[in-house]
Amino acid sequence: MEEKKYCEGCGAPLQTEDPKKIGYIPNSALEKDTLICQRCFRIKHYNEVQSIQIDENDFLQILHQVGDSNNLVIQVVDLFDIDGTFITGLPRFIGKNPFIMVANKIDLFPKSTNERKVKHWLRNYAGKHHLFPEEVFLISAEQKIGLEEIAHYVANKQAEQDIVVIGATNVGKSSLINQLIPLLKGKKEVELTTSRYPGTTLSTVSIPLSDGHHLIDTPGVVHRNRFIEWVSPDTLKLIAPRKPIKAKVFQLRGNQTLFLGGLARIDQVGNTNNSFICNFSNDINIHRTKIEKADELYKQHVGELLQPPSKEEAETLPPMTRHSFKVNTDTKKDIVISGLGWITIDGE
Ligand code: GDP
Repeated sequence: MEEKKYCEGCGAPLQTEDPKKIGYIPNSALEKDTLICQRCFRIKHYNEVQSIQIDENDFLQILHQVGDSNNLVIQVVDLFDIDGTFITGLPRFIGKNPFIMVANKIDLFPKSTNERKVKHWLRNYAGKHHLFPEEVFLISAEQKIGLEEIAHYVANKQAEQDIVVIGATNVGKSSLINQLIPLLKGKKEVELTTSRYPGTTLSTVSIPLSDGHHLIDTPGVVHRNRFIEWVSPDTLKLIAPRKPIKAKVFQLRGNQTLFLGGLARIDQVGNTNNSFICNFSNDINIHRTKIEKADELYKQHVGELLQPPSKEEAETLPPMTRHSFKVNTDTKKDIVISGLGWITIDGE
């Protein structure tokens, strides 16, 4: 059997199959004298971190180590999918570590968004999960909104401790770190250190900062209940909004269905008349029909009228599962489809 090779940067066992997984190295790079994985290569030469994924169980191992340290923990969440990207197992592990929350992708929200209210909501949400952030930041890593504030906050802490950044996959953690490195005056020449967490060498990467402390990137945690973990990269491009979301309002009479492309459908059962305010990427084709015609319409038109996904991809996706909700007239209610968007229902 061939001898197993390890990355000389982070210690991960090297593999050539999956670029998204730990230890990936292109075949061509296996011939080199110094073997480092692609993730380490990019940090070393371009000062740039790359997204990498692990399951939540493996991630908990890393968290054990975080809990034993006194590092500043930054949890990055996606404002477009808070439920799907919030890592709920944290309180047990982060213990007394200082903790802040960074909510990314504020650029997808209208300019009129009341940030104070959003922060308040996020604090409440975190509190319900027994997390009490010292600060909540609303940012856009891509549009460079709110980054200076984080850098300023972190710089004050950096003198005392390392900074550990955690988040679910696709929240924009890498984009954020890549923006923060120059702001936190990371060294130009990055010397990779083998991860300082024993037993988890295959998972974290430490980026040395100028004052001797480190910024530690952890792999993105996979949450299987999110749409983004099921669809193809092409569909992901369509369902992840790129521009501020424009709500589309559909008036549904009794016993009508709304299709969200061919990915999900919502049936209004009964004889009420309600508005369904849809907050989804503009590239998701929303289509209204009668419930009695919905099954047939899906069979005939998925991948065409009802897209994304494409017809071929639709065949590879698991069948839809049914969830029932009863909504009353007192308050507006949001039904969230993790990773896809949400529908606000005002009515019964
Ligand atoms: P990671 O998996 O958490 O490391 O996330 P990445 O940094 O690789 O970003 C995941 C996806 O989110 C990419 O498609 C980015 O273009 C997108 N993204 C990252 N930051 C932002 C942001 O501030 N706004 C928007 N709209 N998209 C973002």
